Amino acid sequence: MPRYADIVLPLAQPAYTFALPEGVTVAGGEAVAVQFGRRRIYTGIVWRVHDRRPDFRTVKSVSRVLYGGMRLLSPEQMALWEWIASYYMCSLGEVMRVALPALMKPSGDTEEEFSDDEFRPRTECYVSLAAELRDEGRFHEICEKIERRAPKQYEALLELAAAGDETRIATGEVARRLLRADHAVLDALRRKKYVVCTRRERSVERGGAVFRLPELTAHQQTALESLRGQFAAGKTTALLQGVTGSGKTEIYIHLIAEVLARGGDVLLLVPEIALTAQLIERMERIFGSRVTPYHSKLTPRRRTETFLRLGRSEGGEFVVGARSAIFLPLKRLQLVVVDEEHDASYKQSDPAPRYNARDCAVVTARLFGGRTLLGSATPSLETWLNARSGKYGRAVLGERYGGARPPEVLISDTLRAARRGERHAHFNKLLLDRIGETLARGGQAMLFQNRRGFSPYVECTECGWTARCPHCNVTLTYHKGGEKLVCHYCGHTEGVPAKCPSCRVTDVVPVGFGTEKIEEEVARIFPGARVARLDRDSVTSERAFNAIVADFAARRTDILVGTQMITKGFDFEGVSLVGILNADNLLNNPDFRAAERAFQLMTQVAGRAGRRSEPGEVVIQTSEPGHPVIRQVASGDYEAMALAQLAEREAFFYPPYARLTALTLRHRDPMLLRRGVLELAARLRARFGRRVLGPMAPPVDRIRGEYLVGLLLKVESSASSARAREILAEELKSFSRQAEYKSVTVVVNVDPQ
Ligand code: ADP
Ligand code: ZN
Ligand code: ZN
Repeated sequence: MPRYADIVLPLAQPAYTFALPEGVTVAGGEAVAVQFGRRRIYTGIVWRVHDRRPDFRTVKSVSRVLYGGMRLLSPEQMALWEWIASYYMCSLGEVMRVALPALMKPSGDTEEEFSDDEFRPRTECYVSLAAELRDEGRFHEICEKIERRAPKQYEALLELAAAGDETRIATGEVARRLLRADHAVLDALRRKKYVVCTRRERSVERGGAVFRLPELTAHQQTALESLRGQFAAGKTTALLQGVTGSGKTEIYIHLIAEVLARGGDVLLLVPEIALTAQLIERMERIFGSRVTPYHSKLTPRRRTETFLRLGRSEGGEFVVGARSAIFLPLKRLQLVVVDEEHDASYKQSDPAPRYNARDCAVVTARLFGGRTLLGSATPSLETWLNARSGKYGRAVLGERYGGARPPEVLISDTLRAARRGERHAHFNKLLLDRIGETLARGGQAMLFQNRRGFSPYVECTECGWTARCPHCNVTLTYHKGGEKLVCHYCGHTEGVPAKCPSCRVTDVVPVGFGTEKIEEEVARIFPGARVARLDRDSVTSERAFNAIVADFAARRTDILVGTQMITKGFDFEGVSLVGILNADNLLNNPDFRAAERAFQLMTQVAGRAGRRSEPGEVVIQTSEPGHPVIRQVASGDYEAMALAQLAEREAFFYPPYARLTALTLRHRDPMLLRRGVLELAARLRARFGRRVLGPMAPPVDRIRGEYLVGLLLKVESSASSARAREILAEELKSFSRQAEYKSVTVVVNVDPQ
């Protein structure tokens, strides 16, 4: 009988050994309650059971087994946690922190505080056509009756019928979205006994569903077959590179349906929750209640229910989720699709584990013997190089669906416009003319303004004073709605001073421009236009987000001004014009990925223009009209961009040719920090030579009262990178053991974005 168990706790620590009391049996992957530290009770995950007594004096015992001894993690999932801990140089406890939903890792000082609800699956309402209406004649009769008088009910009935009876079961919210009907409509239909609602346990029936798959075009069919062939031939990962609107999603759908039909599980990763809503809806139209959403906007309870339900499931699951969905306890994972695989938000930068869900997806699929499909119009250079070298499979979709032509890109020189007096506020005449024409035609426009580095701030016109954060080395960002100054690093907030606090002479005025400013200007120039804004400030909740998007989709607004948020995934029929207000700040980021990012971003934004009937127009405002990246965007030449950038990366030894690890050291005492970083840099140079760069100041070198300094380690992308991590870990350990530097925080970020 094994008498000990190594248990992972949600703390920044490795597994810890506990004794198993008489009569308690546990196995790897199960959850237990344990007392740790100052008698605090934690949820822990059993990592392994064994007989070796640890060498500390008092060994505490496992208090009890949770979730009735259900196995929460499959062996594959455990292997993924271990891979993450080793690759991203963090502890299993830190992996546990992101991997399990909040409610599943309670801790408390007393048994009452530590409540481990055992979430039972809840029942839900399923909707289907009443038996009477299954008769075609009767159906038409009723349709005729209500078509005029109750068009919404009529539409809902048609949807329900079109979907066939099998899938026409869905939960309240899902049903409403599927049927584009609200409560009132469904209630009315129910009262008239045209539809029936039945309460059932969530997703009990999931066998043998018939999905309504889109018919593929010849190009899409070729790409699909090619992917199938490459997967069958043993490629575990493939890139689907397809221009925006080419139907990548349609190909995902076919591959997903095949796996589900075999009873396998599928995971579809989406970079941001902003996008999941639209994609989930689209998937639900095909896969009905088979779709399980998982992202941070779900309530904690929903996340937990989903986790536990999947833990009990026997396969055939389809999860659409954000990056943490890779941790869901699927057992028969056969396909992971990573949509917009180049997106930087797959990487969690803070806190640890600083993992990239795209890369973890590839690892997870391999652990399960499954396949990964990476989709993008503008793949990351890492992925593109892997596809080119044959390590990954690859299929290409070069044309938009339905013969839609690519947008026409106009490059507008801001300097020239200014010289000619053709610049008003932040707009060149060309862009204003195009907006005017678009509005006159009843079209819609999207205006993109990159927020980063251009946050508005307040300044004194007299003495040049600017409001800065007292805790961080940054200017405070000015938020017009609410007249507040906010620190984007620590959240510090203060009011806008009435008089300049430095010279006490004049008022302070807002400078710089963000989306708010653009929104204001465009509304002033086009007083008849209905203008909305989509950015982190206007989107305070999922509901706010959905409302803004829905208004634009329904053409209740004419112009949508936004940040990165507007660039991805939206499919708005009416958008014929896209304006990029300032390409310069995209191109001139001091980051080796700046050109790649600028290309991706501008291409994504441009892709929003003119999706089907008429080709769209894109206006890029820049002071460098001859910049190669601008030209590559204009001609839609991804390959030219990729080849040019790869040549540079190779010459300067950057990813994908090198692997980067960024180290950030933090301390309140700048002198101590300086000594510390020099010491660590010297140690690392002794092991890695010139591949250690720094010390260097990060863009913001003081946050929350702590000073920051960075080092960058570059190593070859090869098997030796594992050895490099070992060496780095050794050195960090011995550095932190020195009494003087014990209090210096060292943050390790592997593959920083
Ligand atoms: P991508 O994911 O590559 O941006 P989508 O899959 O979203 O492209 O396709 C763009 C639009 O074209 C969508 O509205 C989609 O419904 C439509 N579409 C693409 N392929 C097909 C097809 N084979 N049949 C019907 N509609 C399609
Ligand atoms: Zn601050
Ligand atoms: Zn002043």
